[in-house]
Amino acid sequence: RLKFDSRTSRIWKSGRLSSAMEQTFIMIKPDGAQRCLVGEIISRFEKKGFSLRGLKLVSVDSAFAEKHYADLSAKPFFNGLVEYIISGPVVAMVWEGKGVVKTGRTIIGATNPADSAPGTIRGDFAVDIGRNVIHGSDSVESARKEIALWFPEGVVEWQSSLRPWIYE
Ligand code: ADP
Repeated sequence: RLKFDSRTSRIWKSGRLSSAMEQTFIMIKPDGAQRCLVGEIISRFEKKGFSLRGLKLVSVDSAFAEKHYADLSAKPFFNGLVEYIISGPVVAMVWEGKGVVKTGRTIIGATNPADSAPGTIRGDFAVDIGRNVIHGSDSVESARKEIALWFPEGVVEWQSSLRPWIYE
């Protein structure tokens, strides 16, 4: 029997800790929304076995985009990046699962689509680094910060009934 502790986000199997759950922040950027890739991208995370905990379509202003990308403020492409992110609505999501931060980055592919393997989202759907369709947190710590920034209202507490078919 699997028991999910929503306070610690851990799965317990027969009283023993089975696997640690993680959450990551995933954003479909304005080009992804404009190019009708929303369903395809959500589908890839769903089919993998990850669980959706938050989802919204939002337009952000430059102050918000600058906050999200604060670590990159010294980069020469920073202003262009902010312009890109505010150029249309984005789909902000929180996905949950075992190792979802690292595996989410693998599903997304390398930052520059020229280097992203076929089969990854950027490898399949993007050409230019400045139009690379999707964002995913690069560490558990940045996921925590990004989820707090994008979902101050919190995420949804629920447990997929597929869990015993995805986790041993
Ligand atoms: P990632 O999104 O893969 O975590 P970074 O955090 O390094 O990559 O960069 C954030 C975003 O900034 C990238 O996804 C991309 O949209 C943009 N970016 C990164 N490097 C460049 C560049 N050299 N020119 C234009 N845009 C860039």
